[in-house]
Amino acid sequence: MEVLSGLTLKEIEKITDSLHASKFRARQIHNWIYLKSVSNIDEMTDLSLKFREEFKKVATVTDVKIKVKQVSNDGTIKYLLEYPDGECVETVLMRFDNRANLTACVSSQVGCAVNCSFCATGKRGFIRNLTYKEIIEQVLTIQRDTGLKVTNVVFMGQGEPLLNLDNVLKAMELFNDSFQIGARRLTVSTSGIIPQINALAENDMQSTLAISLHAPNHEIRRKLMQIEDKYPMPELKKALKNYVAKTGRRITIEYLLIKDLNDTIESARQLVEYLHDIKCNINLIPYNPTEKNDYQKPSGNSIMRFKSLLEQSGKKVTVRLERGADIDAACGQLRGKVN
Ligand code: SAH
Ligand code: SF4
Repeated sequence: MEVLSGLTLKEIEKITDSLHASKFRARQIHNWIYLKSVSNIDEMTDLSLKFREEFKKVATVTDVKIKVKQVSNDGTIKYLLEYPDGECVETVLMRFDNRANLTACVSSQVGCAVNCSFCATGKRGFIRNLTYKEIIEQVLTIQRDTGLKVTNVVFMGQGEPLLNLDNVLKAMELFNDSFQIGARRLTVSTSGIIPQINALAENDMQSTLAISLHAPNHEIRRKLMQIEDKYPMPELKKALKNYVAKTGRRITIEYLLIKDLNDTIESARQLVEYLHDIKCNINLIPYNPTEKNDYQKPSGNSIMRFKSLLEQSGKKVTVRLERGADIDAACGQLRGKVN
């Protein structure tokens, strides 16, 4: 039985060929899957009843199940999905003020090996990579369940996308070609895997690269992210400058703000210095308390102070709105509760 979600038009044509149907049928099926997001073959109403019956013998739309669904007061929807092998990942749909903008936050791995000290996903270690089909299934599940078309995708769910780069790139290709989501509406977030950042610099990708920097210096960063030992900030900076030089694209710097740890005036000064010659925007992420650790949310005042200090350096700074706080929408939290 072929699972249709994740197949390219060419791959669908192979199935329709085997059923002696025209290429036009393949195009129709492709659009039912990616643009109209049907849940089963019977909904493909412009295919003849006879063809649908034949087709159902060899193909099915999906093999992924929604295990948990939570809807937040602010419209954010969080899903825990289950793949056929029983492994689960989270995927989140965020709606911003502008209702036309629907952003899916997808996972790239089950668990994560990077083990950042503030992250609920990292705590559970690495289980396995997701295939590109399993990645795009997350967006299809959202579309099927809501009847809406996702317009933006961010790789900010579970996992380190650059440690599963082949599948992530292939998923991005499908987002482009099959979902018709433009490359500029795709963002890959990484903890800073330098060799892969260098590889992306050679790739003609129009998407946004977001770097989870989270610290203004080596000492603070290694407290938060043990990957700082392997890929330290001075090396990371070289890779970021190379990326900008090769692609001309502006990087997004993500900075998790944690009370009294990295939200001080001194931290802001050091961060400005570190970033002064890197073409970037900065996204401040107020820490979202997860399980047992000592980190705390920064106060509203310290967020604003930090933001304005960075802005004085001429950078564009945004503060990530808290989405779905009432439904455990931070990275790794839902899977943690269910397991
Ligand atoms: N592994 C990649 C992408 C997934 S994490 C990365 O680390 O960039 C996506 C973002 O969520 C990262 O910026 C991460 O630092 C952030 N994050 C993780 N736990 C968080 C928490 N408890 N509160 C706020 N942001 C968190
Ligand atoms: Fe992995 Fe990202 Fe979580 Fe770090 S923040 S443990 S890299 S998912």
